[in-house]
Amino acid sequence: MTERLYYQDPYLCAFEANVVASRKIDGHPAVVLDATAFYPTAGGQPNDTGDMNGIPVVDVHLAEDGEIVHVLDGTLSGPAVQGMVDWDRRFDHMQQHTGQHILSQAFAQMCNAETVGFHVGGDLSTLDLDRVFLTSEPLSAVERLSNEIVMDSRPVIARFVDESELAALPLRKMPVVEGPIRIVHVQGFDWSPCGGTHVRNSGQVGPIKVTRIERRKTITRVSFVCGWRALSDYAHKQWITQELAAHLTTSEDEIIPSVLRAAAEGKDLRKALAAAQMEVLHARAADWIAEAELVGEMAIVRLAFDERDVSWLKEAARRLTGRAGVVALLATRRPRTQFVFARAEGVTADMGRLMRAACAAVGGRGGGGPQFAQGGAPGDLSAEPALDAAVGQLRDADVGREG
Ligand SMILES: [Zn+2]
Repeated sequence: MTERLYYQDPYLCAFEANVVASRKIDGHPAVVLDATAFYPTAGGQPNDTGDMNGIPVVDVHLAEDGEIVHVLDGTLSGPAVQGMVDWDRRFDHMQQHTGQHILSQAFAQMCNAETVGFHVGGDLSTLDLDRVFLTSEPLSAVERLSNEIVMDSRPVIARFVDESELAALPLRKMPVVEGPIRIVHVQGFDWSPCGGTHVRNSGQVGPIKVTRIERRKTITRVSFVCGWRALSDYAHKQWITQELAAHLTTSEDEIIPSVLRAAAEGKDLRKALAAAQMEVLHARAADWIAEAELVGEMAIVRLAFDERDVSWLKEAARRLTGRAGVVALLATRRPRTQFVFARAEGVTADMGRLMRAACAAVGGRGGGGPQFAQGGAPGDLSAEPALDAAVGQLRDADVGREG
């Protein structure tokens, strides 16, 4: 079996070893070594990357026989290997992983919640608690305790223990493997069976920050960031607040009241606009009918508007078709291009068929019954051509009828 150098020294990046077996995995050369500092994907911690004799190591995983398989981006020329682990990636994983041990113990102590899952992702890490977290529970106390353990700079020690010693330890969770068990001990705080890589001192975890809590059926998923990731996250959030403050021409402390005020003003303005548009409709409806194009017995009211919502179009159609003979072909260009076609009682033209033809002419979609139809199209240049198509159909049908 491969000697796992990362068990003794997770800070070891450069090492020498020999190839003991070669394989092909999905067309890539892959090797097993007599010793390795490369950590394989396991226990929620992603694999290391790096290189061997300058050839990139693209994946490291545990094979079914328990061997550590290194997948390479090229073929090694001989059995002797100089390995180099990508330290930035490894140290980031050590920070997230050790931070998780601390955070899990803090959730156990402050909320009586046990950790049942853990995963280090590309941006965020997650841990799963075995029950639903209540919004009334002291998340800030969990973060406080976790960061106190960081500030304490406590030694973090990983070592193998036998069964008798194991029984005496206050383990946070029971081991899932047999034989000698590797225990990771954050001094005086947390004892967990774990095969991952950890920092040697809790201070190296850096800040621990929970970024999100989500309920997932009977468990709770906690997203968190540690160390450099926490600093990046803080910098990103600071950028957001500074941009918002600049756009709102206010101070950071005034962002929330400013946004709430703007939202309330927007709501009032939309209400006032809707009322004004309704007044325009009432004042102009008779003019629009007077200006309608007469085709046979029909008076075609064809109008395209900006900034109307579909409920306004429907109300306009309802009002216009109260007059005998009217066919209302209405469009709004913004916020989206939408159409409402309606006919007065006694008119025989089929609005659903007309709508399908109009929408097809501009790459949109729509439909409806003989009396009323609705549709929409992409872009804000399609309103006029769609209405042209609808009016054209009515004229052609009229010519056909007369002929
Ligand atoms: Zn661990």
